[in-house]
Amino acid sequence: MASFPRSRPRRLRRTESLRALVRETRIDVTDLIYPMFVIEGKGIKREISSMPGISQFSPDLLPPEVEEVAALGIPAVLLFGIPQEKDEVGSTAYHPQGVVQRAIQAIKLAAPELLVVTDVCLCEYTSHGHCGVVVNGYVDNDQTLPLLARMALSHAEAGADIVAPSDMMDGRVKAIRETLDEKGHQHIPILSYAAKYASAFYGPFREAAESAPQFGDRRSYQMDSANVREALREVEQDIAEGADIIMIKPALAYLDVIREVRNTFNHPLAAYNVSGEYAMVKAACQQGWLDEQQVVMETLTAIKRAGADIILTYHAKDVAQWLQTV
Ligand SMILES: [Zn+2]
Repeated sequence: MASFPRSRPRRLRRTESLRALVRETRIDVTDLIYPMFVIEGKGIKREISSMPGISQFSPDLLPPEVEEVAALGIPAVLLFGIPQEKDEVGSTAYHPQGVVQRAIQAIKLAAPELLVVTDVCLCEYTSHGHCGVVVNGYVDNDQTLPLLARMALSHAEAGADIVAPSDMMDGRVKAIRETLDEKGHQHIPILSYAAKYASAFYGPFREAAESAPQFGDRRSYQMDSANVREALREVEQDIAEGADIIMIKPALAYLDVIREVRNTFNHPLAAYNVSGEYAMVKAACQQGWLDEQQVVMETLTAIKRAGADIILTYHAKDVAQWLQTV
């Protein structure tokens, strides 16, 4: 390797054209998935106080919003449902006329080309707020699996393009894959939240999805934030069970996990830039302490540079607009 003064790395940084020519990582609008919250009812558009710019929508008010998302070139949305009624086993999660099922139908009419990804988890639908069936105070893994499979099937039947289990039960990808295949949905991919950590960065999401656990926490099923080798085992297991795309959640505090997974596996890899990451940026920018566009683009570039192909982000609409004006 040549040394100074023959080698001068600054030569390639002199102008923006030179910098663009040698740039290694780019954010493209087609990398993005926009998460959305759909709430049972009519005529509701309610902003989430801890996530400025993000609202809950009732299915009837979704069309203009998803038309805008599609017109910006964002290829996909991820849906979380907020039902009116909750019970011990999350029955409204797999009801054919549930809020997500009706939202899928509304989106498919308004923006047929927009991919609809659905979150598959019971926590928004259970009275106790946990991601599975609770037996003697403990979330029972194997009793939860058929309910998740039923939920994924009802999303596929309603027209979902991709189902995304986020519950962290063991064996759920297999259970969902088998049920989808049995019922003629072999073509529906599974995006598994393969390594989902028990994270304090989900705080604002619980307000958005009205899904805080009523007792205890989620540490008996979501991963310990200290572990990376365990993430590789989780990913390996989900791929073996049939996951088509794998996800790491959250993103920013787990860039090393994204990199390790990228280095070890060849499946498409998604990372979730979660509500707390979004809220921190928004709060600081409202104070005038950070430049929003620069901080968001730097953050998303870091997530992609770490190895993610796909980024789920609440900034998606802003990013799409910024990319158009560059
Ligand atoms: Zn959950």
